[in-house]
Amino acid sequence: RVKEHGRNSMRQFVPEMGLNAISRLNMESALRRGLERSEFLLHYQPKIDLDQHTVVGAEALVRWNHPQIGMVHPVEFIPLAEETGLILPLGEWVLAEACRQQVRWREQGLGDLKVAVNMSSRQFRQDDLAGRIAAIIAVTGANPAYITLELTESMVMQDVDSTLTTLRSLKKLGLSISLDDFGTGYSSLSYLRRFPIDELKIDKSFVNDIHTDPDDAAIASAVIAMGLSLGLNVVAEGVERLEQIQLLREMRCSQVQGYYFARPMDAQSFAQFQLKKKV
Ligand code: C2E
Ligand code: MG
Ligand code: MG
Ligand code: MG
Repeated sequence: RVKEHGRNSMRQFVPEMGLNAISRLNMESALRRGLERSEFLLHYQPKIDLDQHTVVGAEALVRWNHPQIGMVHPVEFIPLAEETGLILPLGEWVLAEACRQQVRWREQGLGDLKVAVNMSSRQFRQDDLAGRIAAIIAVTGANPAYITLELTESMVMQDVDSTLTTLRSLKKLGLSISLDDFGTGYSSLSYLRRFPIDELKIDKSFVNDIHTDPDDAAIASAVIAMGLSLGLNVVAEGVERLEQIQLLREMRCSQVQGYYFARPMDAQSFAQFQLKKKV
């Protein structure tokens, strides 16, 4: 089935071979080309407030629409983008596009929706991060009060002094800070208190079995209580079942995100999305 492409350097991209067949080097140049050729796009997954029963915003999740392979998910290219430094231009594009989308939603009459953007470690550590973000906000006309940056515990715990400085400068811009995949890393509780963060996102591995495993339920309940007592917004990710939502609600979890309500979708579908499922 492998086609003869002769000198064509794209010969590795036979669809049925998938990404695994692509060497690291090819993948790196494909990523680079992908950036030049605008092959990346954002999908949006609704964040639902349990008390108000409304969509309060969306998490932006990057996809790579490769011309031969099709839609590639971030787990398959973010690590290499991070290693090679390509995450810097890619991350900048993601943030700018999320900002433009927030403005479009406002223009479409959807009101101010919060948009959450994932950051990688290298991106978080780059020089003058706040200045770069401020420039993107200025150019796009986005409302910083409706932008959340999602960071992971391992990222913020790496060098706590520089983390604190960076977080303070980001907060000055009016952004919200969320700790993503919470529970999978090693957060020191004293830093949780010291860092100016706004939100905890409980990792889906703790949410998966809360309706069947009392230990997982106990952990989720404790994390939610702790987050709330620190004055944080608490979000459960990876919610797939009504039973999970009912439990999370009893635990006073503020918001949920997951396939139960919606998978990540393109911007147009998101604009048309209506909350139909009950909670
Ligand atoms: P994350 O930030 O924890 O995002 C949540 C992931 O869980 C997403 O996968 C989402 O599609 C998936 N998910 C949401 N609801 C459910 C559910 O109910 N069940 C299950 N099984 N999964 C659910 P996705 O889009 O493949 O993203 C994976 C990871 O890639 C993200 O994890 C994030 O760490 C990273 N990522 C995505 N977009 C970006 C980006 O723009 N920049 C950076 N640096 N990383 C990104
Ligand atoms: Mg995230
Ligand atoms: Mg997460
Ligand atoms: Mg996760």
